[in-house]
Amino acid sequence: MTRLEVAIERIEKARISYSRHQIIQLVAVSKYASVDQIRTLYAEGQRAFGENKVQDLELKAEALEALPIAWHFIGTLQKNKINKLIAQRPVLVHSIDSLELAGAYHERLERAGKTQRALLQINSAREASKGGVDPDEAIAIYHQIRENYPALQLEGVMTIGAHSDDRAVVQKSFETTHALFEQLKSVGAKTCSMGMSGDYELAIACGANLVRLGSVLFDHD
Ligand SMILES: *Cc1c(COP(=O)(O)O)cnc(C)c1O
Repeated sequence: MTRLEVAIERIEKARISYSRHQIIQLVAVSKYASVDQIRTLYAEGQRAFGENKVQDLELKAEALEALPIAWHFIGTLQKNKINKLIAQRPVLVHSIDSLELAGAYHERLERAGKTQRALLQINSAREASKGGVDPDEAIAIYHQIRENYPALQLEGVMTIGAHSDDRAVVQKSFETTHALFEQLKSVGAKTCSMGMSGDYELAIACGANLVRLGSVLFDHD
């Protein structure tokens, strides 16, 4: 079996034990992968890929423009890179991590006459090393973005699981994010993006419907 097949099988098992009605999207995080490695995974059937740097997205999307890849942006976004990201038209930006970034993004989208589907990033374990909004403020910020910055079309939440060897701590960070997602469904939230190579089955058990997998999909030297 290929790495992709192994991952899909594990996702499927976790999905069914969570709910047979759940539909889970897999985004292949290609930030450490070459263009050839992306092409190989595409040939195996993968269509959604994620990058965390605007410049890498530009280079890879250009090299692979003949393929109908759905590009996701998952990284910390500097304000001075917003216009470059808009030009790339990613299908989903997972990493709106402050009201201030949302405001700047909205303004540039308006100027360009465009919209962008996006997720609000939650700092679910309140780690200083990570971006995202505090879980206690997330609902209010989500509503403020929806009301004031509508060019950014929020459709859910994203988190990076707690950086911990203690499974219970990681689980709590996913549960915190999923509870916010549930509260936001009434205003159209439909994507709960959480789970990476080391913790995606746990994330699915906590209600994730989009997982972002990098190292388990790509070989490294
Ligand atoms: C790198 C990265 C991933 C994938 O990480 P792996 O552990 O390699 O699966 C997922 N999400 C974000 C935001 C990342 O930066």
